[in-house]
Amino acid sequence: MSLIANYVKRLVEKSTGDALLASRARETIKFLLKRTSHIPSVRSVSKGAAYCSYYARLVEAIGVGRPLYSVSGKGSDVHKILGLAVLKLFNDDWLKKTEITEIKEYVRKAHDELKDEDLLRRPDDQNTINLCVTLLNKLIEKLPLMCKSIGAYLNTIEPVVEQQFMDYDTFLKGSPDLILEDRVNRRAIVVEWKTAREYRDDDVAQVVAYAILEARRLGFKRIKEVRDAILGEPPKVLPVVIRPSGKFLPPHPILMPMNSREKWRSKLRRLFYLVLLEAQHLTVLMTHQERLTGVSRDEFLIPLEGRPDVKVNALRLTPKGLRKGDPMSQSGYPCASKKKDAGSPRPICELATACRFYFGREVGKKEEYERILWSLRYTVFDEKESDLLVYKALHVIFKSLDKEYLIRVFTEGGGVYFHIDKLPQVKSSEDRYFRCSITVERDYFDMKEKKWINERVQHRVDVLEELEFRKAGALIGRRKVRDFEGDLFYTIPEGSPVLISFLDAQSPLLSINMFARVDMVDLEDGKVVYYFGVPNRLLKYQLLLLKEYLMRHGNSLQNVLLVHVNADLTHLELEALDALQRFMEDRQSLPEQLKGGEALNLELIQNERRELESELGITEEEWPSLRELLQRAIGGKRKWPTD
Ligand code: SF4
Repeated sequence: MSLIANYVKRLVEKSTGDALLASRARETIKFLLKRTSHIPSVRSVSKGAAYCSYYARLVEAIGVGRPLYSVSGKGSDVHKILGLAVLKLFNDDWLKKTEITEIKEYVRKAHDELKDEDLLRRPDDQNTINLCVTLLNKLIEKLPLMCKSIGAYLNTIEPVVEQQFMDYDTFLKGSPDLILEDRVNRRAIVVEWKTAREYRDDDVAQVVAYAILEARRLGFKRIKEVRDAILGEPPKVLPVVIRPSGKFLPPHPILMPMNSREKWRSKLRRLFYLVLLEAQHLTVLMTHQERLTGVSRDEFLIPLEGRPDVKVNALRLTPKGLRKGDPMSQSGYPCASKKKDAGSPRPICELATACRFYFGREVGKKEEYERILWSLRYTVFDEKESDLLVYKALHVIFKSLDKEYLIRVFTEGGGVYFHIDKLPQVKSSEDRYFRCSITVERDYFDMKEKKWINERVQHRVDVLEELEFRKAGALIGRRKVRDFEGDLFYTIPEGSPVLISFLDAQSPLLSINMFARVDMVDLEDGKVVYYFGVPNRLLKYQLLLLKEYLMRHGNSLQNVLLVHVNADLTHLELEALDALQRFMEDRQSLPEQLKGGEALNLELIQNERRELESELGITEEEWPSLRELLQRAIGGKRKWPTD
């Protein structure tokens, strides 16, 4: 169901009166969504759905802020401690540990383990520990009520903590704080911990978005089924915000006081719709329309409302219904507080400065360097289209073919070929080119050459039979040597980033998973053995979570899927572009040559360069053009003439 496509069709028809053009706009946007591998994060989507669409755009498409939340382990100390404490509690038979002294003990154990791993920002902070005890106690206290309201039994629910899920049907990607699920009966409670006393609509939108991901994980396929699972009374998937104060558990009406149920019912319905709409809208903003569809951006130009002299691409306009502030005036909610402070509303949006910079100026007024930086943003997105293609392929392949069958294909030496516009095809082990791999193809439109170019990527896949956590923090996986292997082992190369998926859902992207690096592959006692490492601190937390899952489910694991993937650095690169663009705007004294895009003279930019060096880590090199200087400044992996 493409909400955005239908919206754009209506918009173009109303604006131009051309029904054919309107239908073409709808088909173009559907085609674009079918082909893209981008997905926005739930955090951005929920901000856009319930707070301000400009805010979401700034974070997701421009790179403002530090959205480290796309990986688990992103959160505050409270979130980390609670995540680990819940898993430890369940591993020790939580039904018998409901006294407050016992809860304190689990919080303390989780705290100490995280402290030992140097994963807490403020270790030994008593307020943090007390808050964790309060929140965990509230969860335990309210759990019987929550289970009853979805028809689940206390002794059949299993915890899932901070797992990153991705879904290309709803265009959502994110890591719910905690899910308590009964997979057999397809029931779940989706919990968001909120540390503040108050919560906002975007907090509610966030837990609704996570509930959508969980419903998809449980196998509710169509959007109508997902909606009924969440909004139904009783629900099958219950979104819950748990905070230190308050008797009730928003947002589902079933857990709210009788006299406010109607209000919550309509809020939930509205947010469910807006989350899906904003997710599609942000996805479109992250794509390169011409490159993916071959349809020119100029084809759907319509006059901007209230500014008939300015034409904009209808496909990228913020859909009606999504809330947005006024970047020019920044007065009134959501830019400023609803209540007045000393006679005037108080500014409340933390992105106000960035917002004024990007959206608070006359449309069309851009310096040369800004044009270049915008085009570099598209370059980042284009590269990520290719890097993320393997995720899109995993989504479609596991949606189209049975999971058990696919495991058999890979373990018998076969592979899967997938063209983005067609159904996946299974290749037998006889076809050596495709062995133990996923091969993905897509055609993209080259604007300079004016022709379609074929792009093909191949990713090695492996299936493990055992996964073991060793004391020293090492993760080890094993599998039998396969009959077809002979002297040549079809393993994932050392040094590669991999997605490790437990395949406990139909899609590996909706299963318990983690990212790691293959440090070493060896042959021991007739088995292929993988040694995994985690390249950064964020993933270290994921490793601790995985250790707890392995303690609980290690013996029942049958097939663990390994896929060679690319690391997604989109946000780091976009952040660098944002920093540079705003930094350069501040430097009104930039030499004309730097603004002009002509060949640069190092002497002329010496002073500016020193500042760039210190702010963005640029090294002394010759920069033959402004574009290359800016490319160099954002880091990235592109080729530089001087490299
Ligand atoms: S300043 Fe206002 S318009 Fe800009 S992002 Fe914040 S809330 Fe939105």
